Amino acid sequence: MTINRQRVREEEWKDWKWQQRNAVKDVRQVSDHFTKIDRTFFNDLYEKSKGLKFQVTPYMLSQIPPDISLEELQRNPWFLQFFPIGDVYREGPDAYNGTENWDMPEEFPTSNIQHKYTNRALLRFRNCLAYCNFCFEALGTLEKDPKPEKIFKWGDWEKSLDYLASRPEIEEVVLSGGEPLLLPDSKLEQVLRDISEIRNSDGKPKIRFKRIHTRVLSHNPYRITDKLVEVLKEYRVNEMAFHIAHSSEITPDFKEAVYRIREGAGRYAPILATHTPLLGNINANAETLWELFGQLYELNVKPYYLIHTFPHTPFANQQRMSVRDGARLMKQLKRHKSNIVIPEYIVAHYNGKVTVPLELDGTPEFQYTKDGHGNPVVKFLNWKGKWVEYPDVKDALAPHPV
Ligand code: SF4
Repeated sequence: MTINRQRVREEEWKDWKWQQRNAVKDVRQVSDHFTKIDRTFFNDLYEKSKGLKFQVTPYMLSQIPPDISLEELQRNPWFLQFFPIGDVYREGPDAYNGTENWDMPEEFPTSNIQHKYTNRALLRFRNCLAYCNFCFEALGTLEKDPKPEKIFKWGDWEKSLDYLASRPEIEEVVLSGGEPLLLPDSKLEQVLRDISEIRNSDGKPKIRFKRIHTRVLSHNPYRITDKLVEVLKEYRVNEMAFHIAHSSEITPDFKEAVYRIREGAGRYAPILATHTPLLGNINANAETLWELFGQLYELNVKPYYLIHTFPHTPFANQQRMSVRDGARLMKQLKRHKSNIVIPEYIVAHYNGKVTVPLELDGTPEFQYTKDGHGNPVVKFLNWKGKWVEYPDVKDALAPHPV
């Protein structure tokens, strides 16, 4: 298919539902968009990634120039995030082999809710607008045929509200990934209204804080409609976190969406922040990260988390860098740039996330170790005081003068 913005009426192009309806779901079909790349390349990607979902909106595809060469495409940050980029990684201690990265079954009182940390619960929608090939929830999002427990069931909704009401410690709800903003406005409004109507015995709202984590600004910024902004305002959403990996995602349409939220919600505008995956093949150098964080700061959006790439994701072998290399990058930025622009660098783990210390030899509570076969492992004390481990990869960056 050819995506030419000039040939689509402006009202259609900027209609988020049109973008969604016209999203391409088979990687073989994008070959028509590219004038210099043989379709066998995309056929090959399809064969290598059977079983995994693929989807790109016309907006997203239009960010890649049609006359790009194959070599350039293979370095392109959009391609590297949202396309299958080769063979699914099936061997090695951090391979994609069904190992759970994030979801612990006992944290799911219903199919909709994950209650990992004390004061907050996540609503876990499972569909996305595009499928990030590094997704740490790949077993629930990228798999074409996920296990039944990975499917959000509206039939559980009343039970989920009862759970939120019954747990005195829960005071915050995060609408999280998949993609909560794939819900139509009426459904999103119902979700926020139902949560807001839960009351304490004194009649005050029980859920004091509401957050939304979304990827729409990178795939379909037109989802930020006036109606959506009204809903954010009416239900006092406290924070919106945009997921973003590279400064090329900050397009004029992305910026327009940010302004629309602020101007439309006025004094009730949510805090705008970002989560960024650290991807060895896209953003793993101080200049690229700084370009991203600096451009966000110019928009008054706070870079909040830099998240170490998870193991057990489909293309982890091409994307992961060592945790210590991530800490090296943070050291290169820290003190040379204003602290407010620098996100917190974290390793997330199904047993809880931790901030990575900048000491390159680790600390008593965060250690760089090896498994019995000599493979790198990070080991740290989690928020419950329990030691947890993750497979790491070898350092690739040369030590940098700080
Ligand atoms: S949008 Fe979020 S949940 Fe969906 S595939 Fe990307 S990282 Fe995963």
